[in-house]
Amino acid sequence: MESILIKNAKILTMSDQGVVDSDLLIENDRIVRMDSGIQTESKIVINAAGKVIIPGFVQTHVHLCQTLFRGFADDMELLDWLRLRTWPIEAAHDYDSTYYSAVLSCMELIRSGTTCIADMGSIQNADADAQAMLDMRIRGKFGKAMTDFGTLPPELGKLPGAFSETTEESIHESMALLEKWHHQDNNRIQYLFAPRGILSSSEQMLLEVKSLADEYQTGVHIHACENRTEMQRVIEQRGMNEIQYLDKLGLSGPDLMLAHCVWAGEDDIHVLAQTGTNVLHCPSANLKLASGIAPIPAMIRQGVNVSIGADGAPCNNNLDAFIEMRIAALIQKGRLLDPTVMPAKKVLELATINGARALGMDAEIGSIEVGKKADLVILDLFKPHSIPYSDVYAAIVYSCGRENVDTVIIDGKILFEAGTFQRIDQEEMLRKCQAESRRLLTKTGIL
Ligand SMILES: [Zn+2]
Repeated sequence: MESILIKNAKILTMSDQGVVDSDLLIENDRIVRMDSGIQTESKIVINAAGKVIIPGFVQTHVHLCQTLFRGFADDMELLDWLRLRTWPIEAAHDYDSTYYSAVLSCMELIRSGTTCIADMGSIQNADADAQAMLDMRIRGKFGKAMTDFGTLPPELGKLPGAFSETTEESIHESMALLEKWHHQDNNRIQYLFAPRGILSSSEQMLLEVKSLADEYQTGVHIHACENRTEMQRVIEQRGMNEIQYLDKLGLSGPDLMLAHCVWAGEDDIHVLAQTGTNVLHCPSANLKLASGIAPIPAMIRQGVNVSIGADGAPCNNNLDAFIEMRIAALIQKGRLLDPTVMPAKKVLELATINGARALGMDAEIGSIEVGKKADLVILDLFKPHSIPYSDVYAAIVYSCGRENVDTVIIDGKILFEAGTFQRIDQEEMLRKCQAESRRLLTKTGIL
């Protein structure tokens, strides 16, 4: 049996237990004890005196396949960003470029303390996302993007040829991926249906997805109410906005994950709250693409489960939960002229336990409790930018960054320690990722 003993830590449990000073024992993939003075035969003993343990961050909306074109779609409006950059480049991906895009994403995610993700893959090669998640040992749910409806508004032009799939093809391919990957590697990898958005999804496909998600007890992950123009086109096409339309089709509920919801109105927030539908807040992407600022405090007030995600590297340009937490807090204070909204502890909940809840995984991850999976991050706050501090939640949300990440443990395995990846050669991997990026962008004519 493999075991890891972490001694003398300050543990932010993100449960009713609050902050505790204690040792923590991991056996295999789980936390088995939390109390003082634990003595065991563990071969691995980490002295965490002066350090802080938090649950690994859960990012509920990322696109692993986009990281190879970080920096190649800056300062563009969302619909142009999609039409001129994201769709053509995603359509040009092959298995290898998709794989290394996902590898690079996982390196950045793990290095900055994210231990679990929900990935919206590309239409093709989503297999490569799953393989990279498996190889890099991150936890998460992934799904291929589904796009069976090609009648897009004029400003979006036509979907690239590689993206046109029939309803049957889209469902068939999703099911093949589900059968291959769902519950792989000690249930670390799971499948999640991912219709890309309402404008590219037929009603029939959405209904079939709902019934399959129920049958296989997994969720549905989709973009909703991100951009005002896009939402107006949805209203013209379907008679109502994304939130109302998905509710009418019966998709609302704790298994539905809606990325963005920037333009959710009072009635929409009411639907989200009443049905237990999850909102995936991506503040950096919403600001960079000038989509707007989501009414997150109003959602939280009404009891909506809000979590966070970095979205894609080309619209962020990082995949770092520290950045998302800081921005999620600051933009609402500035917008509402009220420094008391989005307090630090609440913001850390968005990035941990709320993300786990959105994924239906809160019985396993998202807080530090005996019996839960050992997905942990040890932070070293003894850095020039993060001492002194009084409130540890505020220190993490307002002062800390990825430089504070000392150790990352996923499923009971140490993946990152003392600034170094434990299972891969970082230099070599980065060189491969850069070469694949160059190959992909040359193929699309951007380089
Ligand atoms: Zn997205």
